[in-house]
Amino acid sequence: VTDGRSNGRTDGRSELGGADRWDAIVVGGGPAGLAAAVNLGRSCRSVLLFDCPETGRSEYAQVNHNYLGFPDGIRAQELREQGRLQAERYGARFHPGDAVSVRRTADGFLVADADGGGHVGRGIILATGVKDRWPRFPGYEAFVGRSLHWCLICDGYEMQGKRVVVVGNDAHAAETSIQLLRFTRDVTLLTNDGALGLPPETADRLARRGVALVVDRITGARSAAPGMLEALELERGDPLPAEHLFSLQGAEPKTALAHALGLELTADGYVKVDTEGRTSEPGVYAAGDVTRLFSHQIATAGHEGATAAFALNYDLYLADEAHEQAIYSVAAVGNEAEMESRP
Ligand SMILES: Cc1cc2nc3c(=O)[nH]c(=O)nc-3n(C[C@H](O)[C@H](O)[C@H](O)COP(=O)(O)OP(=O)(O)OC[C@H]3O[C@@H](n4cnc5c(N)ncnc54)[C@H](O)[C@@H]3O)c2cc1C
Repeated sequence: VTDGRSNGRTDGRSELGGADRWDAIVVGGGPAGLAAAVNLGRSCRSVLLFDCPETGRSEYAQVNHNYLGFPDGIRAQELREQGRLQAERYGARFHPGDAVSVRRTADGFLVADADGGGHVGRGIILATGVKDRWPRFPGYEAFVGRSLHWCLICDGYEMQGKRVVVVGNDAHAAETSIQLLRFTRDVTLLTNDGALGLPPETADRLARRGVALVVDRITGARSAAPGMLEALELERGDPLPAEHLFSLQGAEPKTALAHALGLELTADGYVKVDTEGRTSEPGVYAAGDVTRLFSHQIATAGHEGATAAFALNYDLYLADEAHEQAIYSVAAVGNEAEMESRP
């Protein structure tokens, strides 16, 4: 059992079966959760940060080239390592495992870890990210972030003059294929499905713009070097030469804890937040990819994590001030009564 550093308010075991107590529990150790932990630590709030072994988006091999201040790019994994060191410098404690469940209690939120331990936070920030629907051919993981991508803003620039295949079977995949033409003329859209999901007019538009269209499924990949594609093996057709693959098959927000807390979601299934990262439930905040369908970026996640931390910190301040005021008022009323009862 550990305890937090809560300015003397909440240290030590709670009444909840020996659960340790924190000002804030952050779930997710990507850029959003790390930025939250750094800023809470620097507000002298005690923080417990959960980060499970399941690979998050910031844990692949990619180098981020558009994150300000790193002219040669920075590996996402290195950014996480540095972020963790920074958060720990300000007292954040890491729990390397799943936050399995959460429920509201009288004095905060009780989070269960995978070993059955309990941890209580006065506030909680969900920064759980999303799970990508990668094309699942054998060994695909080795290609992610090297020659398997999903985001045009992140990796489009590096596609100049490359042979690129987009995987997807909807209007968004078609749009992305056309946008890729700014970087390379060699673009193919592969449905990874047995039938064409695009309306004929979209297929015509692709043809007019010089985007090849292949209706087939990926069964495997040939590589030129570790993590670098050479060709895709298909269910029906001949191998399709490809240096880079863009997955436009979408992603699922990780909202199990949000569901457990009864949070309002957007129509797309993401956690609904206001501009300060507050969710529909008081004391619960969310940040990063789990809060929005688009603009999935390191910069956005870091910004949202920090913003949620500021809001949580401020809301704790308001709650503590209200508590102090209530004690003061009770004491004042007591003093008045005593004065009046004196002869
Ligand atoms: C291949 C690739 C290339 C990219 N390139 C760029 C780029 O060049 N520039 C850029 O800005 N962005 C890039 N991105 C996007 C960027 O990585 C994401 O937008 C960013 O990581 C989102 O941060 P996040 O903290 O919201 O989520 P994540 O980084 O996904 O972190 C969420 C973390 O929460 C953990 N978690 C989830 N549920 C639980 C739970 N119940 N208990 C404990 N832990 C939990 C996960 O394991 C994960 O570690 C890229 C992404 C990929 C996949």
